[in-house]
Formats: sequence, structure tokens, C-alpha cells
Amino acid sequence: MKHSNEAGFFGGIQLSKKILAAITEMGFEEPSPIQTQTIPLVAAGRDVLGQAQTGTGKTAAFGIPIMEKLNPDSRQVQALVLTPTRELANQVAEELAKIGKFRRIKTLPVYGGQPIDRQIRALKFGVQVVIGTPGRLLDHIRRGTIKLGHVQTLVLDEADEMLDMGFIDDIEDILKAVPGERQTLLFSATMPLQIKSLANRYMQDPVEVSVSRENITVPLIDQFYYETRDRLDGLCRVLETESNARAIVFCRTKKGVDELTASLQARGFMADGLHGDLTQSQRDRVMKKFRDNHLEILVATDVAARGLDIEHVTHVINFDIPQDPESYVHRIGRTGRAGRKGVAITFIEPREFRQLKLIEKSTKTRIIRGQLPSSADILDR
Ligand code: ADP
Ligand code: MG
Repeated sequence: MKHSNEAGFFGGIQLSKKILAAITEMGFEEPSPIQTQTIPLVAAGRDVLGQAQTGTGKTAAFGIPIMEKLNPDSRQVQALVLTPTRELANQVAEELAKIGKFRRIKTLPVYGGQPIDRQIRALKFGVQVVIGTPGRLLDHIRRGTIKLGHVQTLVLDEADEMLDMGFIDDIEDILKAVPGERQTLLFSATMPLQIKSLANRYMQDPVEVSVSRENITVPLIDQFYYETRDRLDGLCRVLETESNARAIVFCRTKKGVDELTASLQARGFMADGLHGDLTQSQRDRVMKKFRDNHLEILVATDVAARGLDIEHVTHVINFDIPQDPESYVHRIGRTGRAGRKGVAITFIEPREFRQLKLIEKSTKTRIIRGQLPSSADILDR
């Protein structure tokens, strides 16, 4: 059965005109599977443990029912969302602000690397939804500059990544600082044991919702690998044959990002790098250039690229093969988002073939061997 926006239903619940108008403006015509499954539960006040691949609309899965329920007349923080990185905090804050736009709900991203005074002023002025990274949130809690006594819903977004990044203690401290009478939602692309245990300790009778990865990511992303001893040359050939590419190229280390960025720039590509050693304003500038289409190629480390939702990424390129299958899934999830087609390319050296096979096996996908374009293909273009 299809619920059309016109009838006022989305994901099986009746939405107010204001929320409906907002999501229609965002181009949402039908709920994604994770949204269909979670929106009614969240609206009913249940604790939810939601698992779905990146790019499947988890933000709106919790964002729509939260924005529907909030009281815009109160200036208290009513929902708190934890995210692993600053970029994600910004991105989720933006998406929630769009959903809550016509209800005039105020959202505030709060993360390290941004002057704390400005955040303190904004918090004092009053916001209804705070989206933050665990470290900076805890800082505000300890300083007493954020009041969480009215929080009704707490969201742990991209929980697996927060744990990977070592935020477990901070998260537990924050969980203890919000009222016990609350709704807790946890979203993640994967559900390792550590997350189940966190859920057992801090959630009340959570409903588990899972949308399997096979049905979501794979059909939309064509996956190739190229075996070569000269990966830089291979990468340049691929980039030269693809006109209008908007690519994210992953490197294993920050140094690798810097070196590859310099090599690509020297060859005339519009490329820039993103990693954790850059200042916040440098990172913002690079992201803006990429979003505004002033860059063709974003070179990044895993951490810097976590969860980024950038529209129309045509290629995800693993210049360095990911360390493990989870990381592969996260990386290629940057393309083929929300029903668009994408290409994922992995460069390997001959000795990395086994690692590639391992990824193929545990992600249950086919990664096809590609033939590098020859110089003739490039000249012919
Ligand atoms: P996830 O958190 O699962 O990785 P996001 O919440 O970041 O995914 O959503 C990915 C993209 O899909 C975003 O650009 C979002 O606006 C878009 N999106 C989400 N839900 C829908 C929908 N129902 N219809 C169309 N686009 C959607
Ligand atoms: Mg997300």
C-alpha cells in the first residue's frame, strides 16, 4: 500500500500540514524502508534500535516524528542528537532544520573546533534541538551551559562510528545526564555486540528494526577493481576518461591525503583534501567548494568522510584498499545515495587481492575486475 503525501500520511502516520509541506519541499515523495518501519514506532514513543545501510534516510526516520512532536513554544532543549563528527552534526542539524522549518523549530549544532562562547550564547537564547559531538556536549554539560532537564528524546546517530571513534565513555556520561524518563533512539549501519550491550543498559524495551544491506546498497552501485602497480597513474587515467566526475578518493592516512592531493593538483585536477589535522574553517571551506561544484575530487581519510551526505557523488575511489569490510561499506555508501546510481572503484596491488576477496565475501557483493583505460582512450575523448 502506498501512502501519498497528499493524504497527509508519510511512513504510516498522519503528519501535520507544516511538516508535510517541509518534506515535500525536500523532495521526499515516499518514505524509505527504514522510515516506513521506524516512524510509527518513534511517533508512538517507543525506544528504537534501527539498523540500515548509509544513505537510506535514517536522519528523517527519527527527524520527522521528533519534529512533529516538539513544542515550538518552549525554548527548552527537547531533543538531543549525538553524532560522531562535526560534519555530521552540521549535516543532521541542517536536515532537521529543514524538516522543522514551518514549525519554526530551532536546531543548533554543537561541536569542538568552533568557539564555545558563540555556542553558549545560542544555547542561552534557547533552542529546541541540539545536535552535537560527544566531547563538546560533555564540555557544555560540565560547565552547566546546557540544560538537559527537559530532554524527551535522545538520539544516538551513527552509533557504530561513535564507538569506533572511542566515544563510549563520553556517551555513557551523557546518557546519565539526561532525564531517565525519556525516549532513546539508536541508529547505526551495523549492530556489533558493543551496541547491543549499550542498548541493553540504557534503553527501555527497545524495538529492533533492521533493513538488510543486500536490498539497499548493492544494486545501485557498480563496483570495480583495478589491479596495478602504479595506482597514481591508474587513478589519473580513470579521472581523465570520466568527464563530469564528482569523486571522493579515499586514502588510508592524512599524509597520503596530502600527497595525493598535491599530485592531482600538479596534474591539473580540481582536487582538495579533507582530514582531521585541518582546522575547522579549512574543512568547512573544502566541503563548501565540493558542494558548490568547484572541486571535482575530494581526497579524504575515512574519519573525515564519515557519514557525509554530499549530493551527486558519481565515484567513490579507494586509492588505498579499506582496512576491513565495514569500512568498505561505509566508503562506497557515499555514492548511490537515495536511489541514484554510483560507481565504486578500488585500486589494489597484486598482493592485496586476498583482502579484496575478503571484502567481496563478507559484503556478499561482486566486485568486477576493470580494465584500465589506455592512453588511446584518453586522447580520443
Ligand atoms: P543515512 O543517515 O541513512 O546515511 P541520510 O539520512 O543522510 O542517510 O539520507 C541520505 C539522503 O537521502 C539525504 O540527502 C536525504 O535528504 C535523502 N532522503 C532521506 N529520505 C528520503 C526520502 N524519503 N525520499 C527522498 N530522499 C530522501
Ligand atoms: Mg545518518
